[in-house]
Amino acid sequence: MSKYWSDAIRNLVPYVPGEQPKLGGITKLNTNENPFPPSPAVNQVLQQFDTDRLRLYPDPDCSKLKQALADYYNLNTAQVFVGNGSDEVLAHTFMAFFRQPKPLLMPEFTYSFYQVYCNLYDIDAHLIPLQEKFAIDLDDYSIENGGIIFANPNAPTSRALSLDKIEQLLQRNTETVVVVDEAYVDFGAESAVSLINRYPNLLVVQTFSKSRSLAGMRVGYAMGDAELINGLERVKNSFNSYPLDMLALDTAIAALQDESYFTATTAEIIATREWTTAELAKLGFDSLPSKTNFLFTSHATTPAAVLMSYLREANILVRYFNKPGIDNYLRITVGTRQEMELLIATLQQCPRLQT
Ligand SMILES: *Cc1c(COP(=O)(O)O)cnc(C)c1O
Repeated sequence: MSKYWSDAIRNLVPYVPGEQPKLGGITKLNTNENPFPPSPAVNQVLQQFDTDRLRLYPDPDCSKLKQALADYYNLNTAQVFVGNGSDEVLAHTFMAFFRQPKPLLMPEFTYSFYQVYCNLYDIDAHLIPLQEKFAIDLDDYSIENGGIIFANPNAPTSRALSLDKIEQLLQRNTETVVVVDEAYVDFGAESAVSLINRYPNLLVVQTFSKSRSLAGMRVGYAMGDAELINGLERVKNSFNSYPLDMLALDTAIAALQDESYFTATTAEIIATREWTTAELAKLGFDSLPSKTNFLFTSHATTPAAVLMSYLREANILVRYFNKPGIDNYLRITVGTRQEMELLIATLQQCPRLQT
């Protein structure tokens, strides 16, 4: 705290990301990164990059990346917005659509950055309780609102909603923006992108950080009606004209265009997820049905905090939220099969899990 701080920053509650360890030798299952490297096409772009280009500013409109995304999702470029990671896209979304008097609806447990943005922009967040086993019931969102946001699949719960449930919500809620954060959708859930042409208040947000192995490049995007995208452009161009650098733009396009690598790596993560779920069950864990690249799991008798510390001692990092309601769960990223075998073998040795 300093006397030089403005009142605005005094009251901020910043997001705390999962740890990025400085040392090697750690099995990192705490921030839902992809265990596979990016597509070899990304490597090729970087190897062949002409550094003389870096003298110039990158394309402020990110036209080629927007075109590649529009082609991929069968949209036009006016329906696509790109930003420096989907976190930045989300920040602009809150500013553009949710900064208004009525409360923003979101699930009680969801991506915790949403509340950080509410705090930043003075938005009143209305948390909607979850149902049995952290299921979202969108019928609970039929109340007055200044907007609705949820992640699908949700984080940290890993559960997905069906497309018809989302469409039913859009049929009822036509006066405010509905944002579906699909950071994990490629791991087995249904995307709402197909609804964009019918619902002008739907914004779908995705990222290259999880299913495309590019968390280090910071590329996220939003898709929706051209007028929504225009709103986001207004915020972006009042903040930073060049949020995506040349390397990010070129590598994202290369990753998007390597469909076979994308299909193979996501399929392998899904298979490893199912294997890990079954192995954890043998050890007495109950995992929620996951459509993501992570598991949200709790043990029948041993507290999650104890297991998190035990794994940490064994150099395996998993995510633990010390928050009432979810404080007996571990969120475990699905790594390679080998990493998950190490996780299971380590848990098998845990004295607190011996029966
Ligand atoms: C990881 C994640 C993001 C942020 O992704 P970036 O594109 O890396 O900023 C957004 N929403 C959810 C739900 C996430 O899990």
